Amino acid sequence: MKVAVLGGGITGLTAAYCLSKKNHQVTIFEKSAILGGLAVGFKQPNWKWNLEMAYHHLFANDYDIIKFAKEIGFNKIFFKSPQTASLFNDLTIHPMDTPIDFLKLPYLDLFNKFRAGSVLAFLKLSPFLSLYEKQTSEEFIKKTMGKTIWIRLWQELFRKKFGDYAGIILASFIWARINKRTKNLGYIEGGFQSFIDYLAKELTGLRVNVLTSYEVEQINKQKNKYKITGHFERSEKSSEAFDIVVSTLPTPIMAKLTTNIFSEKYLEKFSKLKYLHALTLILESKEPLLKKTYWLNISTLQIPIMGIVQHTNFIDKKNYGGNHIAYLGWYLKREDKLMQMNDKELLDFVMPHLEKIFNFQFSIFKNYETNFKKQISNFYTFRGPFAQPIFDKDFVKNKPGFITPAKNFYIANLDMTYPYDRGTNYAVKLGKQVAEMI
Ligand SMILES: Cc1cc2nc3c(=O)[nH]c(=O)nc-3n(C[C@H](O)[C@H](O)[C@H](O)COP(=O)(O)OP(=O)(O)OC[C@H]3O[C@@H](n4cnc5c(N)ncnc54)[C@H](O)[C@@H]3O)c2cc1C
Repeated sequence: MKVAVLGGGITGLTAAYCLSKKNHQVTIFEKSAILGGLAVGFKQPNWKWNLEMAYHHLFANDYDIIKFAKEIGFNKIFFKSPQTASLFNDLTIHPMDTPIDFLKLPYLDLFNKFRAGSVLAFLKLSPFLSLYEKQTSEEFIKKTMGKTIWIRLWQELFRKKFGDYAGIILASFIWARINKRTKNLGYIEGGFQSFIDYLAKELTGLRVNVLTSYEVEQINKQKNKYKITGHFERSEKSSEAFDIVVSTLPTPIMAKLTTNIFSEKYLEKFSKLKYLHALTLILESKEPLLKKTYWLNISTLQIPIMGIVQHTNFIDKKNYGGNHIAYLGWYLKREDKLMQMNDKELLDFVMPHLEKIFNFQFSIFKNYETNFKKQISNFYTFRGPFAQPIFDKDFVKNKPGFITPAKNFYIANLDMTYPYDRGTNYAVKLGKQVAEMI
């Protein structure tokens, strides 16, 4: 059968791989010039490895991607234990990797620590329970860990990640977050892009037709076939008919393209889903912004950044021309002022805050000149549309599933990783699952 796979992220690439192994004739349509979607990487001429436009690592229990990589002969995943920490109001950085780290945390008395610690242990061990969908994370945490813990540990983290939506996020999010997390984190030699490129090469061998820089604009149904219409960059429109469609596009984009296929009632469900868009600012610098920490949650209102990921405290800086790499990350509404800023404005906006963080760590060395701006040699930004679905009650009722009312039109996208937060592991899993149905 002729299959159109819409989207050349990891879900689309995996689906195409599995479908062509089943002897289907597959075409991938990808809007960007480079395959990889949200996991896409880039490389400077003096770097050995690619770097993701948005910080990426694997968890030790990301079994689907680990297994699939082995199946296709890709043996470049490795694991390490970099430090995770939180930055609090006094600008000190506290490691948050182990129960001992948690016990050492100031700001909380022993009673609250034990109470929170036992709930965290319960979440780690308990299977998914329907009660997590009947209350918000805030309600659950206040009820079980107490109001003090909510205010001191969680409130700001939720506000930073979900903005105005912080109060409606279901407790299933917190369960999945705790349940999934592992101390060992994985990375890929050459960056995630080396996995994507490897997969793309396999697809070429399997005679999959990979169309990059091709934006799908509309899908129509003609008898039993789907007509995919779109265009290459700066080219005329073209159309081709397929027996089967697999859409891995973000749901709001898919909904816009399929008004001639699906009923208003079916598409209306998707209008109830809410999303935030990802924004990252990548800093390449001579000295690191963070001394030891890889992953820093910002738990203070004073610093308007969701998190800082000092990638080179995880992966050796020799792979990036000897420079350090730090990511600053946010999830935002499209109209947010940070989304509207150009790259330079964004850098100027964060600079005073970065100077504070940098100074606080390095000023203990007497006569050490602390000026992080002078250390920066390059900076880059990335915007990922619809990258963070909002897991609220509407989401659970209206999220898409593989099967749609239109025969032979399937969906496999990052909304379907719920209750887990999206990830490349689930992209592989979804790609495999959808291919099994066809
Ligand atoms: C900030 C951030 C951090 C992350 N961190 C991690 C991490 O640490 N570990 C991890 O495993 N995962 C992480 N992820 C998640 C991971 O990147 C995604 O779950 C995964 O890449 C999703 O793959 P996908 O193929 O389902 O979707 P996508 O990658 O979104 O692919 C969809 C593709 O569709 C294309 N497209 C859109 N519209 C059209 C159109 N009209 N025509 C043709 N093509 C179109 C897009 O260009 C895109 O390539 C992170 C994501 C973000 C945003």
